[in-house]
Amino acid sequence: MAGSTAESGQPGPGAAPSLAVIGAGVAGCALAAGLRRGGWGGSIVLWEAGRGPGGRAATRRSRHDPGWQIDHGAPLFNLLDGPEPDLMAPLLAGGWIEPWREPAALLDGEGHLGPADGDPLLRGRLYRGRRGMDDLGRGLLSLAAASGSPGTLDGRYGTLVRHLKARHGGGWRLADATGAVQAEADWLVLTGTLLAHPRARERFGWPQVPLQQASRGLGDAGLEAALAAIASMEMDERTNLMLTIEPAAAARWLALPFRLLGFDGPARLRWGLRRLSIQPLADGRCAVVAHGVLEEPDDAAAITALEAAVGAALAPLLGQRPGGGEALAGVERRQLMRWGAAFPAAGGLPADATVCPRSRVAFCGDFVAGPGFGRIEGALRSAQALAGRLLALVLLLCFAQGSPATAAADAIAYRCDGDPLLATSDNGAVDAPGIPNTAAGTVPGATVLLEWRDLRLQLPRTNNAGPPSYTDGIWWWSLEDPAQPRFLHRRGAIESFSCQAVPAAGPPAGDR
Ligand SMILES: Cc1cc2nc3c(=O)[nH]c(=O)nc-3n(C[C@H](O)[C@H](O)[C@H](O)COP(=O)(O)OP(=O)(O)OC[C@H]3O[C@@H](n4cnc5c(N)ncnc54)[C@H](O)[C@@H]3O)c2cc1C
Repeated sequence: MAGSTAESGQPGPGAAPSLAVIGAGVAGCALAAGLRRGGWGGSIVLWEAGRGPGGRAATRRSRHDPGWQIDHGAPLFNLLDGPEPDLMAPLLAGGWIEPWREPAALLDGEGHLGPADGDPLLRGRLYRGRRGMDDLGRGLLSLAAASGSPGTLDGRYGTLVRHLKARHGGGWRLADATGAVQAEADWLVLTGTLLAHPRARERFGWPQVPLQQASRGLGDAGLEAALAAIASMEMDERTNLMLTIEPAAAARWLALPFRLLGFDGPARLRWGLRRLSIQPLADGRCAVVAHGVLEEPDDAAAITALEAAVGAALAPLLGQRPGGGEALAGVERRQLMRWGAAFPAAGGLPADATVCPRSRVAFCGDFVAGPGFGRIEGALRSAQALAGRLLALVLLLCFAQGSPATAAADAIAYRCDGDPLLATSDNGAVDAPGIPNTAAGTVPGATVLLEWRDLRLQLPRTNNAGPPSYTDGIWWWSLEDPAQPRFLHRRGAIESFSCQAVPAAGPPAGDR
C-alpha cells in the first residue's frame, strides 16, 4: 500500500499515511479538500455506500429524465457566528455554491402563514449548491483534486464497508458483507456513525457494532471513550415524501409565497410534518419534498399518509377544498426516502475525542460537538479541524523520522499538553526600520499561527523586549526557551500548557 512499509503498516520515512475515509458526505469531501490543500502526501480513499458524493446533502437525479432532480435531504445550509470555514471562499469563487435567497414561511396549527424567523436552519448566512445540493460535495472534491498535492485521491461509490479489522502492527483493513477485504490503510476516518453506533444492530440486524468489535484488544482508552460518546447519541429520523408535479399543477405550487415552509409546534403535531421544500424543475414541473416524522414501516402506506398530510395542511393555500380528501392534483411520481439518522440529537462527540492516535482512528461529521452541530456547518467545520490535526500529526511524524523537509520551512512541531501543535511564523509586511525590537528577525506586525487540537490561532507579535512573544490578549505564546515555549490561556484564571519542541531525529546510522 502506498505510503506504508509492508511489515509494520507504519508509514514509510517521509511518507504521509494512507487514509480510508468512510463516507463522501460533506464532511468526507471537506476533509479530503482540507488535507490535500494542506499538502497531505498520502493516498486518500473515500468509501461511500451512496451512488455519488453528498450524503444527507445529496441530490437525486435520473439518467432517463435529465430535467429531473431532487434535493431529498438538506435543501440548503446556513453559517452562523464565527469565522467562515476556509473552504467557503473557493467554493463560492468556483461557482459550486451560491447564496440562498428564496422566500420562506412558517405554518401554524391553524393553517396560517407567518414569518420563518425562528427557524434555526434559516438563521445566519444561507447557501445552497448551485445545480443541486450535491454541488457542495462535488465542489469540495474538485478543490481536493485541484490542490496539486502529491498523494492520490479516490472515491469508491456504491460500496458499503461492513467490517473493520485492526491490522497487526497498526492500521486498518476494510471488508464488505462477505468478509472480503476491500482495502487497507494506515488511518481510518469515520464521517458517519453507522459503523460505531448501536443502531446498526437494530436497523440491519448486525450482531456487533463493527468499530466497537474491532477496537477490542487495542487498549486505546481514547477510542473507547469516543465510541461510548457515539453510542450514547440519539438520532432524529425523517421520512421524506418526494412528489414530482406536472407543469399545469406545478404553476400553483410555484405561485405560493414560499419555497421553504416550516411547521411550528402545533402544526407539527397536527400534520406530522416538519418542513416542505418546493424545487422548480427546468421544464416547468416542480418537486415537492415533505419532511415528515411517522412510524409507518410500510412504504406504500407511508406515502399515502404523508401525501394526505400535505394535502390537509396545504389544501387552502393551493385552492383545494380543505378536508375534502381530494388527492393532490398533478402528481406525476411519488417516492419515499427514509433517513434513519437525519439529525444527531444534542450532545455529540467532544471535539477533543475526534483523534485517537494510538489506534489511528479519527472522526469528523455533523455529530462532532461544536459550532454547527447537527448541520452542514458542523460537517464543514469538524472536517476542517480534523484536517488541521492530522496534518500536524503527520508533521510530527516527519520530524520524529528526521524528514522535516516535508514541512513548511517556517513551521515547527511541538507537543503541548499531550497533543501535537504546529507553529508557523510569518514575519509580516510592516516597515522594520525605526521599530525598536527586531530580536530573532521578527518585528511587530509579525504573527504566529498555532494549530492545536481544533484551534487555529493567529497571534500578533508583541513589542516586548527580548525573545519574540505573541498574544491576542487571551492566548499567549512566547519563546524565551524555544525548546519549551510558554503557552498560556487566560479564561478568568490563567491556564498554562506544557509544551516541548519535537526533536527532529538524526539521519539513520548508515547515512551518517
Ligand atoms: C431531511 C434532512 C434535512 C436537512 N436539512 C438541513 C438544513 O436545512 N441545513 C443544514 O445545515 N443541515 C440539514 N440537514 C443535515 C445535513 O444534511 C447534515 O448535517 C450534513 O449533510 C451531514 O454531513 P456529514 O458528511 O457529516 O454526514 P453524511 O451526509 O451522513 O455523510 C456520511 C456518509 O457516510 C456514508 N457511510 C456511512 N457509513 C458507511 C459505510 N459503512 N460504508 C460506506 N459509506 C458509509 C453515508 O452513506 C453518508 O453518505 C438535513 C438533513 C436531513 C436528512
